[in-house]
Amino acid sequence: MYWEQEIETIDRKSLAKLQASRLAATLEQAKRSSHYGGLFERTGLDTARIRSAADVEMLPLTTKEDLREQWPYGFLACSRDELVRMHSSSGTTGRATVIFHTASDIAAWTDLLARSMYMTGMRRSDVFQNMMTYGLFTGGLGFHYGAEKIGALVIPAGAGNSKRQIQLMRDFDTSVIHIIPSYALHLSTVFTETGVDPRRDTRLKIAFLGAEPHSEKMRLKIEEFYGFKGFNSYGLSEMNGPGVAFECPEQQGMHIWEDNYIVEIIDPETGKPLPDGQEGELVLTTLRREGMPILRYRTKDLTRILPGPCPCGRTHRRIERIKGRTDDMMILKGVNIFPIQIEKKLMEIPGVGTNFQIILDREGYNDSLTVKVEIKGEFFGGDLRELEALRRRVVEELRSDILITPHVDLVEPDSLPKSEGKAVRVIDNRKE
Ligand code: ADP
Ligand code: ZN
Repeated sequence: MYWEQEIETIDRKSLAKLQASRLAATLEQAKRSSHYGGLFERTGLDTARIRSAADVEMLPLTTKEDLREQWPYGFLACSRDELVRMHSSSGTTGRATVIFHTASDIAAWTDLLARSMYMTGMRRSDVFQNMMTYGLFTGGLGFHYGAEKIGALVIPAGAGNSKRQIQLMRDFDTSVIHIIPSYALHLSTVFTETGVDPRRDTRLKIAFLGAEPHSEKMRLKIEEFYGFKGFNSYGLSEMNGPGVAFECPEQQGMHIWEDNYIVEIIDPETGKPLPDGQEGELVLTTLRREGMPILRYRTKDLTRILPGPCPCGRTHRRIERIKGRTDDMMILKGVNIFPIQIEKKLMEIPGVGTNFQIILDREGYNDSLTVKVEIKGEFFGGDLRELEALRRRVVEELRSDILITPHVDLVEPDSLPKSEGKAVRVIDNRKE
């Protein structure tokens, strides 16, 4: 069963044709914006030469800085009267960018989410609790519209207020949730505190886990606790928001919806395209956006295209779980480290709880890395030797992966700062 079987299993040749015609329309539309119109004129770029998805390499890349420079209307490709919605990014790495949508943009985005959710098994009989911030952030309304399109009962719970979330789940038989993975882990401690067992006391069966990088280990830990299947959901506001790439029931990478986006992987240093299978920065071109088309957008997200077809039969290529953003990378003593490497190791160690924080300091000329790790309740107040053994194990496990000996502080459950939105994993005190 498919939501849009024809398009999801389209043969690659027909897909290429579809992409080519949508790209041509997108370029025509993009020309109307002062940013692209001006750029094409200045560079003398003849867009008629761009005939297929492979030709996008002829176009310049677009960056978050371009969006910031052209803030707020420089990318707008239609009249303001045609706009029906504005969203913005979360501003994780600086000033937030804004995106405008026409009614047809919202309809296309809604279809992508309905398609993605339906793919995982969600149906109209489901009760969907959307535990994401509503408002400018795209995770709220994006999923909300998609779920309504499927015909499910939507509970627009919003983020936070853990006890009420649990109450809603129980009172209204929530079967599907959308949640930030770090919050899902935190919520597990509230379940335990209140004596509610999600496996026994709720009907949860599907969760959409997105908005921030998380490891396979973290997914497994969450799935294990709740007893549901957790599907990875990827998107960014510049490309609408969620619904860009989504996991199918195979849970082996995320299908990236190529009827809506042209996908490239580039070398983040040189900007040169990389062959399939090689890890690099994901670059996306919108194919169905009217209000604000964006060409060759540098997402700063690191991933690779997984080789081979997916056993589920969908023909849209898959990307691997996001490893992090190019600007998340920590360089310590010449070693490149991503927060997700630390998370992955921590999640493997029994005794480690649900939250952690990475702190970078400069001591003289040396950089140091401290990892504060919440441990499970039963360890606290227990045997001090056991605690020290656990601490040593954490140091050893991390050292074996990141090749630097970190300071490790074990801290009480629930003692590290929590965020209702994306987790803040790294505190860098090295910057003056
Ligand atoms: P901001 O870039 O300010 O955080 P967005 O809310 O648009 O604003 O967030 C998009 C970003 O969130 C992506 O570029 C990516 O870095 C991250 N992200 C979203 N979904 C996932 C996911 N499933 N896995 C890893 N990272 C994700
Ligand atoms: Zn698949």
